[in-house]
Amino acid sequence: MEHVKVLIIGSGPAGYTAAVYASRANLAPVLYEGIEPGGQLTTTTRIDNFPGYPEGVDGPQMMAELRAQALRFGTDIRSGIVTEIDLSSRPFRAVVDAEHTIEAESVIVATGASAKYLGLESETRFRGAGVSACATCDGFFYRKRDVAVVGGGDTACEEALYLASLCRKVYMVVRKPFLRASQAMQRRVFDTPNIEILFEHNTVEVLGDEEGVTGALLRKTDGTETKIDIAGFFLAIGHHPNTELFKGQMELDDEGYIKVEPGTSRTSVEGVFAAGDVKDPHYRQAVTAAGSGCIAALDCERFLLK
Ligand code: NDP
Repeated sequence: MEHVKVLIIGSGPAGYTAAVYASRANLAPVLYEGIEPGGQLTTTTRIDNFPGYPEGVDGPQMMAELRAQALRFGTDIRSGIVTEIDLSSRPFRAVVDAEHTIEAESVIVATGASAKYLGLESETRFRGAGVSACATCDGFFYRKRDVAVVGGGDTACEEALYLASLCRKVYMVVRKPFLRASQAMQRRVFDTPNIEILFEHNTVEVLGDEEGVTGALLRKTDGTETKIDIAGFFLAIGHHPNTELFKGQMELDDEGYIKVEPGTSRTSVEGVFAAGDVKDPHYRQAVTAAGSGCIAALDCERFLLK
Protein backbone atom coordinates (compact mmCIF):
# COMPACT_ATOMS: atom_id res chain seq x y z
CA MET A 1 0.00 0.00 0.00
CA GLU A 2 1.22 3.49 -0.80
CA HIS A 3 2.47 5.39 2.25
CA VAL A 4 3.00 9.16 2.35
CA LYS A 5 4.10 11.63 5.00
CA VAL A 6 1.59 14.33 4.14
CA LEU A 7 -1.70 13.94 2.33
CA ILE A 8 -3.30 17.22 1.26
CA ILE A 9 -6.96 17.07 0.33
CA GLY A 10 -8.15 20.00 -1.76
CA SER A 11 -6.70 22.37 -4.32
CA GLY A 12 -7.79 25.91 -3.52
CA PRO A 13 -5.40 28.58 -2.25
CA ALA A 14 -5.21 26.77 1.11
CA GLY A 15 -4.30 23.38 -0.34
CA TYR A 16 -1.75 24.73 -2.83
CA THR A 17 -0.09 27.00 -0.28
CA ALA A 18 0.17 24.10 2.16
CA ALA A 19 1.71 22.11 -0.71
CA VAL A 20 4.31 24.81 -1.45
CA TYR A 21 5.41 24.91 2.20
CA ALA A 22 5.31 21.14 2.75
CA SER A 23 7.29 20.48 -0.44
CA ARG A 24 9.92 23.04 0.49
CA ALA A 25 10.22 21.29 3.88
CA ASN A 26 10.98 18.01 2.05
CA LEU A 27 7.79 16.35 3.23
CA ALA A 28 6.97 15.08 -0.29
CA PRO A 29 3.27 15.89 -0.04
CA VAL A 30 0.68 14.21 -2.22
CA LEU A 31 -2.22 16.49 -3.08
CA TYR A 32 -5.58 15.32 -4.40
CA GLU A 33 -7.37 18.04 -6.31
CA GLY A 34 -10.92 16.92 -5.59
CA ILE A 35 -14.18 17.60 -7.39
CA GLU A 36 -13.37 21.18 -8.38
CA PRO A 37 -9.65 21.49 -9.20
CA GLY A 38 -8.49 24.95 -8.17
CA GLY A 39 -11.50 25.41 -5.92
CA GLN A 40 -14.04 28.22 -5.84
CA LEU A 41 -11.69 30.85 -7.23
CA THR A 42 -11.73 29.15 -10.59
CA THR A 43 -15.32 30.39 -10.85
CA THR A 44 -14.43 33.99 -9.96
CA THR A 45 -13.62 36.77 -12.37
CA ARG A 46 -11.23 39.43 -11.16
CA ILE A 47 -9.49 39.23 -7.80
CA ASP A 48 -8.44 42.73 -6.83
CA ASN A 49 -7.65 42.20 -3.17
CA PHE A 50 -4.91 39.58 -3.21
CA PRO A 51 -1.64 41.28 -2.23
CA GLY A 52 0.99 41.48 -4.93
CA TYR A 53 -1.32 41.91 -7.92
CA PRO A 54 -1.63 45.69 -8.33
CA GLU A 55 -3.67 45.30 -11.51
CA GLY A 56 -5.77 42.40 -10.16
CA VAL A 57 -5.72 38.84 -11.46
CA ASP A 58 -8.29 36.40 -12.82
CA GLY A 59 -9.24 33.62 -10.40
CA PRO A 60 -8.38 30.72 -12.76
CA GLN A 61 -5.03 32.33 -13.60
CA MET A 62 -4.12 32.77 -9.94
CA MET A 63 -4.98 29.15 -9.21
CA ALA A 64 -2.97 27.94 -12.22
CA GLU A 65 0.02 29.94 -10.94
CA LEU A 66 -0.35 28.57 -7.40
CA ARG A 67 -0.54 25.06 -8.84
CA ALA A 68 2.59 25.68 -10.93
CA GLN A 69 4.37 26.96 -7.83
CA ALA A 70 3.49 23.80 -5.87
CA LEU A 71 4.67 21.65 -8.80
CA ARG A 72 7.92 23.60 -9.00
CA PHE A 73 8.83 22.43 -5.50
CA GLY A 74 7.89 18.84 -6.26
CA THR A 75 4.34 18.41 -4.97
CA ASP A 76 2.76 15.27 -6.34
CA ILE A 77 -0.53 16.75 -7.58
CA ARG A 78 -3.10 14.16 -8.59
CA SER A 79 -6.59 14.38 -9.94
CA GLY A 80 -8.88 12.30 -7.79
CA ILE A 81 -11.44 12.51 -5.04
CA VAL A 82 -10.90 11.16 -1.55
CA THR A 83 -14.07 9.13 -1.13
CA GLU A 84 -13.39 7.58 2.31
CA ILE A 85 -11.09 8.33 5.18
CA ASP A 86 -10.31 6.61 8.46
CA LEU A 87 -8.80 8.92 11.06
CA SER A 88 -9.24 6.57 14.00
CA SER A 89 -5.55 5.58 14.17
CA ARG A 90 -2.24 6.46 12.59
CA PRO A 91 -1.21 6.06 9.88
CA PHE A 92 -4.51 7.40 8.57
CA ARG A 93 -6.07 5.62 5.62
CA ALA A 94 -7.76 7.33 2.71
CA VAL A 95 -9.49 5.75 -0.27
CA VAL A 96 -9.26 7.68 -3.53
CA ASP A 97 -11.95 7.36 -6.22
CA ALA A 98 -13.31 4.38 -4.27
CA GLU A 99 -10.43 2.20 -5.42
CA HIS A 100 -6.93 3.30 -4.40
CA THR A 101 -5.98 3.20 -0.69
CA ILE A 102 -3.23 5.40 0.62
CA GLU A 103 -1.72 5.59 4.12
CA ALA A 104 -0.69 8.97 5.48
CA GLU A 105 1.25 9.99 8.57
CA SER A 106 -0.53 13.34 8.53
CA VAL A 107 -3.42 14.95 6.67
CA ILE A 108 -4.10 18.55 5.72
CA VAL A 109 -7.78 19.08 5.01
CA ALA A 110 -8.41 21.94 2.57
CA THR A 111 -11.66 20.80 1.01
CA GLY A 112 -13.24 24.26 1.03
CA ALA A 113 -16.91 25.06 0.84
CA SER A 114 -19.65 24.71 -1.78
CA ALA A 115 -22.55 26.84 -2.90
CA LYS A 116 -25.88 26.46 -1.11
CA TYR A 117 -29.17 25.98 -2.95
CA LEU A 118 -32.65 26.90 -1.77
CA GLY A 119 -33.83 23.31 -1.73
CA LEU A 120 -36.79 23.75 -4.09
CA GLU A 121 -37.78 20.78 -6.23
CA SER A 122 -38.09 23.05 -9.29
CA GLU A 123 -34.59 24.39 -8.66
CA THR A 124 -33.16 20.86 -8.78
CA ARG A 125 -35.17 20.09 -11.93
CA PHE A 126 -33.65 23.01 -13.84
CA ARG A 127 -30.10 22.73 -12.51
CA GLY A 128 -27.87 23.05 -15.55
CA ALA A 129 -30.87 24.22 -17.62
CA GLY A 130 -31.06 27.77 -16.32
CA VAL A 131 -30.33 27.26 -12.62
CA SER A 132 -26.71 27.88 -11.64
CA ALA A 133 -24.61 28.88 -8.65
CA CYS A 134 -21.85 30.38 -10.77
CA ALA A 135 -22.48 33.47 -12.86
CA THR A 136 -18.97 33.58 -14.21
CA CYS A 137 -19.25 29.98 -15.42
CA ASP A 138 -22.70 30.22 -16.95
CA GLY A 139 -23.54 33.91 -17.41
CA PHE A 140 -22.36 33.85 -20.99
CA PHE A 141 -25.38 31.70 -21.96
CA TYR A 142 -27.77 34.49 -20.96
CA ARG A 143 -26.32 37.37 -22.96
CA LYS A 144 -28.93 40.05 -23.69
CA ARG A 145 -31.56 38.12 -21.70
CA ASP A 146 -33.12 38.68 -18.26
CA VAL A 147 -31.86 36.79 -15.23
CA ALA A 148 -32.25 36.74 -11.44
CA VAL A 149 -29.70 36.43 -8.66
CA VAL A 150 -30.84 35.27 -5.22
CA GLY A 151 -29.02 36.69 -2.18
CA GLY A 152 -27.96 40.02 -0.76
CA GLY A 153 -24.33 39.42 0.24
CA ASP A 154 -21.06 40.29 -1.48
CA THR A 155 -21.24 37.21 -3.67
CA ALA A 156 -24.75 38.06 -4.88
CA CYS A 157 -23.71 41.64 -5.66
CA GLU A 158 -20.58 40.48 -7.46
CA GLU A 159 -22.60 38.00 -9.52
CA ALA A 160 -25.29 40.60 -10.27
CA LEU A 161 -22.67 43.11 -11.43
CA TYR A 162 -21.02 40.55 -13.63
CA LEU A 163 -24.35 39.48 -15.14
CA ALA A 164 -25.41 43.11 -15.62
CA SER A 165 -22.50 43.53 -18.01
CA LEU A 166 -23.83 40.69 -20.18
CA CYS A 167 -27.58 40.55 -19.67
CA ARG A 168 -30.41 42.91 -20.47
CA LYS A 169 -31.76 43.00 -16.94
CA VAL A 170 -30.78 41.47 -13.61
CA TYR A 171 -33.24 41.05 -10.73
CA MET A 172 -31.73 40.62 -7.29
CA VAL A 173 -34.08 38.63 -5.07
CA VAL A 174 -33.28 39.63 -1.50
CA ARG A 175 -35.22 38.25 1.45
CA LYS A 176 -34.42 41.14 3.82
CA PRO A 177 -35.25 44.85 3.36
CA PHE A 178 -31.52 45.57 2.96
CA LEU A 179 -28.34 44.15 1.43
CA ARG A 180 -25.77 42.48 3.62
CA ALA A 181 -22.90 43.25 1.22
CA SER A 182 -20.10 45.76 1.90
CA GLN A 183 -20.92 49.43 1.32
CA ALA A 184 -18.61 49.65 -1.69
CA MET A 185 -20.32 46.70 -3.34
CA GLN A 186 -23.80 48.05 -2.56
CA ARG A 187 -22.92 51.37 -4.14
CA ARG A 188 -21.81 49.66 -7.34
CA VAL A 189 -25.06 47.71 -7.47
CA PHE A 190 -27.24 50.77 -6.82
CA ASP A 191 -25.33 52.62 -9.55
CA THR A 192 -26.00 49.94 -12.16
CA PRO A 193 -29.17 50.85 -14.05
CA ASN A 194 -30.05 47.37 -15.31
CA ILE A 195 -30.09 45.80 -11.82
CA GLU A 196 -33.43 45.85 -10.04
CA ILE A 197 -33.46 44.80 -6.40
CA LEU A 198 -36.59 43.06 -5.16
CA PHE A 199 -36.29 43.43 -1.40
CA GLU A 200 -38.27 41.22 0.99
CA HIS A 201 -38.90 38.62 -1.70
CA ASN A 202 -38.52 34.85 -1.51
CA THR A 203 -38.64 32.35 -4.33
CA VAL A 204 -41.65 30.06 -4.30
CA GLU A 205 -40.86 28.20 -7.51
CA VAL A 206 -38.56 28.26 -10.50
CA LEU A 207 -40.69 28.09 -13.64
CA GLY A 208 -39.73 26.53 -16.93
CA ASP A 209 -40.43 24.20 -19.80
CA GLU A 210 -38.49 21.49 -21.64
CA GLU A 211 -36.05 24.17 -22.91
CA GLY A 212 -35.16 25.34 -19.40
CA VAL A 213 -35.97 28.21 -17.06
CA THR A 214 -38.57 30.74 -18.20
CA GLY A 215 -39.39 32.54 -14.96
CA ALA A 216 -39.69 32.51 -11.19
CA LEU A 217 -42.61 32.90 -8.85
CA LEU A 218 -41.73 35.17 -5.94
CA ARG A 219 -43.59 35.99 -2.74
CA LYS A 220 -43.11 39.24 -0.86
CA THR A 221 -43.19 39.24 2.94
CA ASP A 222 -46.65 40.94 2.78
CA GLY A 223 -47.92 37.84 0.93
CA THR A 224 -48.19 39.31 -2.58
CA GLU A 225 -46.91 37.11 -5.37
CA THR A 226 -45.05 38.27 -8.48
CA LYS A 227 -43.89 36.36 -11.52
CA ILE A 228 -40.71 37.47 -13.23
CA ASP A 229 -39.73 36.36 -16.73
CA ILE A 230 -36.14 35.19 -16.72
CA ALA A 231 -33.93 32.74 -18.59
CA GLY A 232 -31.35 32.25 -15.83
CA PHE A 233 -31.72 31.78 -12.07
CA PHE A 234 -28.49 32.22 -10.11
CA LEU A 235 -27.99 31.27 -6.48
CA ALA A 236 -25.64 33.32 -4.30
CA ILE A 237 -26.87 32.53 -0.80
CA GLY A 238 -23.69 31.39 0.85
CA HIS A 239 -21.78 28.17 1.17
CA HIS A 240 -21.55 25.06 3.28
CA PRO A 241 -18.25 23.44 4.25
CA ASN A 242 -17.22 20.25 2.49
CA THR A 243 -16.85 18.09 5.58
CA GLU A 244 -19.22 15.14 4.95
CA LEU A 245 -16.17 12.86 4.78
CA PHE A 246 -15.09 13.81 8.29
CA LYS A 247 -18.41 13.70 10.16
CA GLY A 248 -18.08 11.69 13.35
CA GLN A 249 -14.30 11.58 12.99
CA MET A 250 -13.31 15.04 14.15
CA GLU A 251 -14.98 17.94 15.92
CA LEU A 252 -17.15 20.12 13.69
CA ASP A 253 -19.20 23.15 14.69
CA ASP A 254 -22.98 23.36 14.34
CA GLU A 255 -22.71 24.38 10.69
CA GLY A 256 -20.24 21.61 9.90
CA TYR A 257 -17.03 23.71 9.81
CA ILE A 258 -13.96 21.95 11.21
CA LYS A 259 -13.03 23.19 14.67
CA VAL A 260 -9.37 24.07 15.12
CA GLU A 261 -7.39 25.06 18.18
CA PRO A 262 -7.45 28.88 18.09
CA GLY A 263 -4.43 30.37 16.35
CA THR A 264 -3.43 27.01 14.86
CA SER A 265 -4.61 24.56 12.22
CA ARG A 266 -4.77 21.65 14.69
CA THR A 267 -8.04 19.75 14.61
CA SER A 268 -9.38 17.48 17.35
CA VAL A 269 -7.41 14.59 15.75
CA GLU A 270 -3.67 14.69 16.33
CA GLY A 271 -1.87 14.74 12.98
CA VAL A 272 -4.84 16.18 11.06
CA PHE A 273 -4.77 19.86 10.17
CA ALA A 274 -7.37 22.08 8.52
CA ALA A 275 -6.92 25.13 6.29
CA GLY A 276 -9.08 27.49 4.29
CA ASP A 277 -12.86 27.83 4.04
CA VAL A 278 -13.47 24.36 5.48
CA LYS A 279 -12.62 25.74 8.91
CA ASP A 280 -13.44 29.42 8.35
CA PRO A 281 -17.03 30.64 8.32
CA HIS A 282 -15.94 34.25 8.88
CA TYR A 283 -13.23 35.61 6.59
CA ARG A 284 -13.29 33.28 3.57
CA GLN A 285 -10.83 35.26 1.51
CA ALA A 286 -8.22 33.89 -0.87
CA VAL A 287 -5.47 35.54 1.16
CA THR A 288 -6.70 34.18 4.51
CA ALA A 289 -7.08 30.72 2.97
CA ALA A 290 -3.52 30.90 1.63
CA GLY A 291 -2.27 32.07 5.03
CA SER A 292 -4.01 29.22 6.77
CA GLY A 293 -2.52 26.76 4.28
CA CYS A 294 0.91 28.00 5.30
CA ILE A 295 0.02 27.58 8.99
CA ALA A 296 -1.24 24.04 8.37
CA ALA A 297 1.99 23.03 6.62
CA LEU A 298 4.12 24.50 9.42
CA ASP A 299 2.01 22.80 12.11
CA CYS A 300 2.23 19.57 10.16
CA GLU A 301 6.01 19.82 9.81
CA ARG A 302 6.37 20.34 13.57
CA PHE A 303 4.10 17.40 14.26
CA LEU A 304 6.13 15.11 11.98
CA LEU A 305 9.42 16.25 13.53
CA LYS A 306 8.14 15.09 16.92
P1 NDP B 1 -23.30 35.82 2.91
O1 NDP B 1 -23.58 34.79 3.96
O2 NDP B 1 -22.59 37.05 3.26
O3 NDP B 1 -24.68 36.27 2.23
C1 NDP B 1 -25.66 35.32 1.89
C2 NDP B 1 -26.86 36.07 1.37
O4 NDP B 1 -27.82 35.09 0.96
C3 NDP B 1 -27.54 36.94 2.42
O5 NDP B 1 -28.12 38.05 1.79
C4 NDP B 1 -28.62 36.00 2.96
O6 NDP B 1 -29.74 36.67 3.45
C5 NDP B 1 -29.02 35.28 1.69
N1 NDP B 1 -29.61 33.98 1.96
C6 NDP B 1 -29.11 32.95 2.70
N2 NDP B 1 -29.95 31.90 2.70
C7 NDP B 1 -31.00 32.27 1.95
C8 NDP B 1 -32.21 31.63 1.58
N3 NDP B 1 -32.47 30.37 1.96
N4 NDP B 1 -33.08 32.31 0.82
C9 NDP B 1 -32.82 33.57 0.39
N5 NDP B 1 -31.70 34.25 0.71
C10 NDP B 1 -30.80 33.59 1.48
O7 NDP B 1 -22.57 34.97 1.77
P2 NDP B 1 -21.64 35.50 0.58
O8 NDP B 1 -21.35 34.26 -0.19
O9 NDP B 1 -22.23 36.64 -0.13
O10 NDP B 1 -20.32 36.02 1.30
C11 NDP B 1 -19.58 35.14 2.18
C12 NDP B 1 -18.34 35.88 2.69
O11 NDP B 1 -17.43 36.09 1.61
C13 NDP B 1 -18.67 37.25 3.26
O12 NDP B 1 -17.86 37.48 4.35
C14 NDP B 1 -18.34 38.18 2.11
O13 NDP B 1 -18.01 39.47 2.57
C15 NDP B 1 -17.14 37.47 1.49
N6 NDP B 1 -17.03 37.85 0.07
C16 NDP B 1 -16.21 38.88 -0.26
C17 NDP B 1 -16.07 39.29 -1.56
C18 NDP B 1 -15.15 40.40 -1.87
O14 NDP B 1 -14.57 40.96 -0.95
N7 NDP B 1 -14.97 40.77 -3.12
C19 NDP B 1 -16.81 38.64 -2.67
C20 NDP B 1 -17.67 37.59 -2.22
C21 NDP B 1 -17.76 37.21 -0.90
P3 NDP B 1 -29.76 37.29 4.95
O15 NDP B 1 -28.97 38.55 4.89
O16 NDP B 1 -31.20 37.47 5.14
O17 NDP B 1 -29.17 36.22 5.83
